[in-house]
Amino acid sequence: MSKTYKRFDAVEAVRKAQDTLLAINGAGKVDMNIARIFGENCLSIDTLKERLPASVWKTLKKTIRDNEALDMDVADAVAVVMKEWATEKGATHYTHWFQPLTGATAEKHDSFITPNQGGGAITAFSGNDLMRGEPDASSFPSGGLRPTFEARGYTAWDPTSPAFIMENEKGATLCIPTVFASWKGESLDFKTPLLRSTEALNQQAMRALQAFGQTDVKWVNATGGFEQEYFLIDQEYYYRRPDLMTCGRTLFGAKPPRGQELDDHYFGSIPDRILSFMFEVERELYRLGVPVKTRHNEVAPGQFEIAPVFEKVNVAADHQQLTMIVLKKVARKYGMVCLLHEKPFLGINGSGKHANWSFVTSRGANLLEPGDSPHENMQFLFFFTAVLKALYDHQDLMRASIASAGNDHRLGANEAPPAIISAYIGEQLDDIILQIRNGGITNSKKEGLLGLGIPVLPHIPKHAGDRNRTSPFAFTGNKFEFRAVGSEQSVSFPVTVLNTTVAQSLDELTTSLLAMQEKTGSFEEALAATLKKTYEEIHPILFHGDGYSVAWQAEADKRGLLNLKSTMDSLPYLTAEKNVALFEKYGVLSHRELDSRLETYLEQYFIKINIEAETTEEIVRTMILPAAFRYLDEVLKVNEKLSGAGMDGKLILKQAEEIHSNLSELLVHLDRLSKQNIELGGDTVPEKARHVHDNVLPEMNRVRVVADKLEKYMADDYWPLPTYREMLFVK
Ligand code: ADP
Ligand code: MG
Repeated sequence: MSKTYKRFDAVEAVRKAQDTLLAINGAGKVDMNIARIFGENCLSIDTLKERLPASVWKTLKKTIRDNEALDMDVADAVAVVMKEWATEKGATHYTHWFQPLTGATAEKHDSFITPNQGGGAITAFSGNDLMRGEPDASSFPSGGLRPTFEARGYTAWDPTSPAFIMENEKGATLCIPTVFASWKGESLDFKTPLLRSTEALNQQAMRALQAFGQTDVKWVNATGGFEQEYFLIDQEYYYRRPDLMTCGRTLFGAKPPRGQELDDHYFGSIPDRILSFMFEVERELYRLGVPVKTRHNEVAPGQFEIAPVFEKVNVAADHQQLTMIVLKKVARKYGMVCLLHEKPFLGINGSGKHANWSFVTSRGANLLEPGDSPHENMQFLFFFTAVLKALYDHQDLMRASIASAGNDHRLGANEAPPAIISAYIGEQLDDIILQIRNGGITNSKKEGLLGLGIPVLPHIPKHAGDRNRTSPFAFTGNKFEFRAVGSEQSVSFPVTVLNTTVAQSLDELTTSLLAMQEKTGSFEEALAATLKKTYEEIHPILFHGDGYSVAWQAEADKRGLLNLKSTMDSLPYLTAEKNVALFEKYGVLSHRELDSRLETYLEQYFIKINIEAETTEEIVRTMILPAAFRYLDEVLKVNEKLSGAGMDGKLILKQAEEIHSNLSELLVHLDRLSKQNIELGGDTVPEKARHVHDNVLPEMNRVRVVADKLEKYMADDYWPLPTYREMLFVK
């Protein structure tokens, strides 16, 4: 019984999965009557309006629609409506749903039940229950903000994101989006700074709009549309891969002869089982009010993408979290596991999350949409430039906002944006910027360009900016697309950074514009001069070439752009003096809150790599070595028998020697890894993080290289781990 037939059981089970799953999930179509199901599990604005007393609705509407501060007096009335609505939907429990610094979401359920005097029970839910919760949440990372003696954290209702119902077969729970803070009011979550940054952006964008004479705009909000890439593999493989189960990625696995080279998966027809899964994911998301829109195969085999229609950024960020939750949940129903890790398979494309971002006014205008009139176009150029300036001024922060152990495998590899932050805006806009820098507009009217009709500013193309997949930050017609976000990450922090840095650059540009106008007396000239001055400084951030190329690394260096290759290189920038000042000035994060983020991110990094390294060691010791010993024994026996029979066993012996030498090499590296795993590198979190980066990771990689080589020498039926070929192609 030495052979690992178990692995073949898995393959066998996967082959039959289609039938099994059909039996479980039924053959019928899922109910896709969108008009009926969309938002049925989401407490929409319409429902609130319908059910709330008119005066309460009027007050609450100001908060939801117009970003005004919440009037606490509405809480009781809203609580009544919420409970009624939720119980009608079968909910027995409610939870304050929040986003701790782990990047996932958290919930602690309370039932609506309150015992009454007579020994029975009624259901109750008060304004207080709605407004504030006290999850016993002392185990969430706080980065030192909350010593255990003051461990309580509080959750508080965020009325701008709709409550929703999470269901399973047995029951339903009302989920109330909340922020999470310490008793001192310091943020312990991702949502609080996101909301604060949106407000900072609102204020500065409003100031800028005023300078443009737009006095009838009430607010500006950021919009987000987040595309999610993910892998699906059959759960039979997953359960036989301790690395996938504990780390979300494979720590071993030789590259199969056929990977993604043929590019035949990309946009190919979607396999049936996957398509059924997608239908059900979309249906669940529709019911939650998440407007998902597109689906397709991605580049790697087993890789797919889902994208929503954009929404106000706070709601979009919550919906992004829900999308990840639903993907994982529904995959299980179809006998699969959804892998959200940035790099589940070495040598195969990783997964990202494209964060599409723009801003919208209370009048519904997209500020990054080139307009029809000269005035609109001047305004477009101003806001467009503000974003590019933000990117240039804060490359470090943008890079740090997406740093994680998982994303390190992606950024800078030849498949994802490089670790260098630059922007792609398309040739036409690039040409316009050149004209602005040169100060004279030479542009004769090109086709498709909108004339500004004034001498100092050039023509603006509509829907310019085409595709350059190698750029981390691209202008795509009427929005920017930040492509370097990792697939597993919360979008909240990168968006917080984007909002805050753009708020600052709008602030600075507006100040400069107004001062210049004062001096020259002409708004157009002041604008042209402000833009010219800005581009003189920030033009190195614009890059239209191949971001994957080696030449770009050298060129970026010449331009003085940062190239922060790893999490450990980039995270320390979070608390650089200029960044502390930035976040404090716009009231987004205090120095202490920023310190706590740095500490938490480093801790997460250290813990993740530590788990990977220990899992690597364990898999080699308990699975790979035993299999290799058995196989070596078998080869040696053949050799022995051959010589017993008087036959020449030289070549067989050579085979044994090959395995033996790989095995010995593996043992040497395993020993080194083991020693590094025992070391901590120091007592502080930064020291530990440094240690795993400098010493543990390289040893782990060396172990993998040898183990993957060994896989290619071993008898297939001895190899204990499902192979890349099986996981990626047998479905
Ligand atoms: P692709 O990038 O694949 O070509 P699209 O350009 O249609 O696809 O859109 C990609 C994503 O960008 C979608 O999720 C979409 O909702 C989002 N998006 C479009 N316009 C905006 C906007 N103004 N603000 C934020 N996101 C947007
Ligand atoms: Mg896109």
